[in-house]
Amino acid sequence: MDADVIRQYLEFYQDLGIKTLYRQPAGPAGPSVSPTAIETVMELPPLAPAGDTLLKIIEDIGDCQRCRLGAGRNKIVFGVGDPQAPLVFVGEGPGADEDAQGIPFVGRAGQLLTQMIEGTAKKEGIEILRKDIYICNVVKCRPPENRNPEPDEMEICGQFLHRQLSTIRPKAICALGGIAARALTGHKEGVTKMRGKWFKWQEIPVMVTYHPSYLLRQYNQEAKREAWEDLKKVLHFVYD
Ligand code: URA
Repeated sequence: MDADVIRQYLEFYQDLGIKTLYRQPAGPAGPSVSPTAIETVMELPPLAPAGDTLLKIIEDIGDCQRCRLGAGRNKIVFGVGDPQAPLVFVGEGPGADEDAQGIPFVGRAGQLLTQMIEGTAKKEGIEILRKDIYICNVVKCRPPENRNPEPDEMEICGQFLHRQLSTIRPKAICALGGIAARALTGHKEGVTKMRGKWFKWQEIPVMVTYHPSYLLRQYNQEAKREAWEDLKKVLHFVYD
């Protein structure tokens, strides 16, 4: 499928009210989507085009204004790391530092994430650095005042996350925080219930853990310990 077709395809979805874009093919229909719209969605080709690459996805994103986040961003924060990484970390959305640099997880939370990945790997005898994994977010543009992304923003941008993950096809994914966990697994529980457990995204195991911003809060010693445990689990699963 070429870029123009995909663009038309996305615009078409947006015109429908983008209620069904990322649902699994056999999933239940959202209440606000008319039966005609659902039938049409079912007939459409797979969301990740054959022969897709990260570069092609970046090209398709272009100077994106598909949702309201486009208007306020400085840089699109696509993703960083090894395009063939066996492990992908998915956060929520860029903050101010990421928006300025165009790279995910470079602010305080990002520094903690890097320490957690590299520190845990070293302690566990696994020789990897941050550059060996891949990091991206559910939404690629910074939400104003670092608010949570809205459901429609997540659906629109989720198209690109879906393609990124389909292209990389890692051995496992680690969802950082409730927004990423819900976007990837469809489960609605809070992160405290989901953390430390395995879920699936398109047959790829997903480990849920706390978002590093949450761990930066001072009273979160227990959560920090739990996050290290979660990370150990996912690192051993991927690299043993
Ligand atoms: N928080 C996120 O969820 N993503 C980033 O890239 C930075 C902070």
